[in-house]
Amino acid sequence: MSVSEITLPNRLARWRRMCLSSFVLAGITALILWVAVADLLRQGRLETVLSAGRAELAAPLLIALVVATGLCERIWPAERRPVLARGHVQDACYLALHAVVVIPLMTLLSVGAAALIGDHARFIELRSTAQWPGWLLVPLTLAAMDAANWLAHYADHRLDALWRFHALHHSQEELSVLTSFRAHPLMHTTGFLLATIPVVALMPTRPIAPVLITTYVCIGTLQHANLRWTFGPLGRVIVSPAYHRLHHAPDTQGLNLGVVLTIWDVLARCARFPARGEAAGRTGLDRRPVPVEQAGTAGPGLLLVAQQLIEPFRAQP
Ligand SMILES: [Zn+2]
Ligand SMILES: [Zn+2]
Repeated sequence: MSVSEITLPNRLARWRRMCLSSFVLAGITALILWVAVADLLRQGRLETVLSAGRAELAAPLLIALVVATGLCERIWPAERRPVLARGHVQDACYLALHAVVVIPLMTLLSVGAAALIGDHARFIELRSTAQWPGWLLVPLTLAAMDAANWLAHYADHRLDALWRFHALHHSQEELSVLTSFRAHPLMHTTGFLLATIPVVALMPTRPIAPVLITTYVCIGTLQHANLRWTFGPLGRVIVSPAYHRLHHAPDTQGLNLGVVLTIWDVLARCARFPARGEAAGRTGLDRRPVPVEQAGTAGPGLLLVAQQLIEPFRAQP
């Protein structure tokens, strides 16, 4: 028997155990990154743009918010648990991954998406908006970006190819402010592609002030806090930790998809506002389709991160 006769069936079996759609998404992401890096190298701006991205997405304001929220979680926890609970430690690994890998990735994705849309869909640019006052145009663009993020989140839950990557975020059974960073790096591709469209359409000639992007990211980060806060009347408009927690409950994942504004959920009739003082329900995924740290068989944190990141590429039985 020749060597090829022995290995070919094994090789085919291995390919059958892999998920093609996940490789397609990885390929699309690599293409956008390649466009961004080639564009920035040609302009000699790669390092400048990466530094600006770090300043926006790892701003002192965001770091201060994470620390302050962590302190509030110790004082008024929705669920009381040790500071070094397995879920907190695992999500801290994702915070490190976010700082090292995801922030440059997000920066390049937005540059690449803008370059691709600019090259192939310039017709969406609304030049007349250049005359509009900033107080109208900037909030309108941010709201449109939020709508695009809602749509990307909706697609994450509706399309199996995207859910494979989003499931890691939902697998957390011990929510905390750090869970905001528990996301597969490839989960961001559709969001950045969609969110870039309104920015290119509405503000083709003026950039959005970095402080506004940072503020948007801060509000989006707070929603995972282990707090029962509903934000009172403001919680009817802005996503609160109690509101987003309902999205992480195994039986109500189709509700409360909003990132910062609740209006898109209201319009899509999938908003459920939490009652003040409502008990914090269970979070995570039934039957644990993604390996999680709370399982007795889980390995050390970094090994488990690797397993969790590989999971979308494996075909499900
Ligand atoms: Zn979700
Ligand atoms: Zn979440």
